[in-house]
Amino acid sequence: MNKRLLLHICCGPCSITTLKTLLDLGHEITGLFYNPNIHPLTEYVKRRDGCLEVAEKLGVRVILKDGEYAPQKWFRTVAHREGNRCFYCYSDRLERTVQIARKGNFDLFSTTLLYSKYQKHQEIADLGKDLETPTTRFLYHDFREGWQEGIETSKEWGIYRQQYCGCLYSENERYKKELRK
Ligand code: SF4
Repeated sequence: MNKRLLLHICCGPCSITTLKTLLDLGHEITGLFYNPNIHPLTEYVKRRDGCLEVAEKLGVRVILKDGEYAPQKWFRTVAHREGNRCFYCYSDRLERTVQIARKGNFDLFSTTLLYSKYQKHQEIADLGKDLETPTTRFLYHDFREGWQEGIETSKEWGIYRQQYCGCLYSENERYKKELRK
């Protein structure tokens, strides 16, 4: 029996292999673009539009949460604990996803964060398990096995590919070499 699944999507490239895998497994998928701390806003828009392009190609409906873009709230959350910021980033995304999944009577929820080789994979998997309920289960899959395919397809389709993880801190880390000593 097909299961209704809500998939949190972080960007276009990460959603290609993830969506294809889940569609092949026979799930009825709805995407959720919820990424409130992507910096700056213009970067958020590029990632959102990349997600929508992929979803359209694969025939998947996407719920957008543009109204919840709130970097100020994010900065308040991680102030003085920036070193542990990824945990707060993952948990915010997964908590919001399970909340929407429960309200929409989805059987399952998951996230494209499980595709990235750069994320703390086990931490995301553990958080998902912690947040599941008897009626809204977390679907774990190691989507990293399709890493190369996702890269190649995103290039072939001309989907926007980001150069840093997403928040202001990651952007600074990526480009700090540009600063003169
Ligand atoms: S580095 Fe990436 S995962 Fe970590 S807090 Fe920033 S955007 Fe989130």
